[in-house]
Amino acid sequence: MTPAARALPTPLLDALRDAAAVLLPVRCAGCGAGGRPVCAACAGALRPEPVEDARGDLRFTAALEYDGVVRAVLGAYKDGGRTDAAAALAPALGAAVAAVAALARAAAPGPAPRPVLVVVPSSARARRERGYHPVGLLLRHSGLRAERLLARTGARADQAGLGLEERARNAAGALRALPRARGRAVVLVDDIVTTGATAREAVRALEAGGARVTGVAALARTPRRTASRHGHPHRLGAIADPDDPRTERSGKIP
Ligand SMILES: [Zn+2]
Repeated sequence: MTPAARALPTPLLDALRDAAAVLLPVRCAGCGAGGRPVCAACAGALRPEPVEDARGDLRFTAALEYDGVVRAVLGAYKDGGRTDAAAALAPALGAAVAAVAALARAAAPGPAPRPVLVVVPSSARARRERGYHPVGLLLRHSGLRAERLLARTGARADQAGLGLEERARNAAGALRALPRARGRAVVLVDDIVTTGATAREAVRALEAGGARVTGVAALARTPRRTASRHGHPHRLGAIADPDDPRTERSGKIP
């Protein structure tokens, strides 16, 4: 609240809020329809279907395909200030985390401590501009919490304008594990897996710091096709994984 607004009497403030709601009605972050942060139709497109996938040597589980409505809502949430879409996105991330935990349990039956969830820390600039951590906020909406076990080394340049191999090189060495990561069993949680360079770097840093990464959970993965439904080259095709995503193994989690 601005100091000027704080000085206003409550009834007047309420009247101003009502007026603002008329002038700035809530619009769906996916399709722009009025009424709700995410409309029922778009919420349907956010229904999680956790799928196991890989980008090169990085294996992960993603709950959504980063395309269409998912892409619109996630873009609005991450870069359009639409934190009101968090509640609609959170169940998918929660489902990906649960699927990864189930896979880890199946791989190593018996009593296991609950894995620690770790997110990739935002850059100082992203923190400043957004004011929230996109994955951290979604986890909180799912009743989960990430532990801070990773830090940025500050070595990374802006990824924009870099080619494939440059991106991978640029990501390498960008993260380091904090000393308390040693000996911990962790699940890495990320928002979108594109080439996998960021998640791979996080896994490398955690393992170099003595942690055991039991799985990688992502909210969404980019589609592997390189052309969109409309026949245009897919924007993300330009930064497809150098490890040839066409050879990836994939399977639905039963
Ligand atoms: Zn909608």
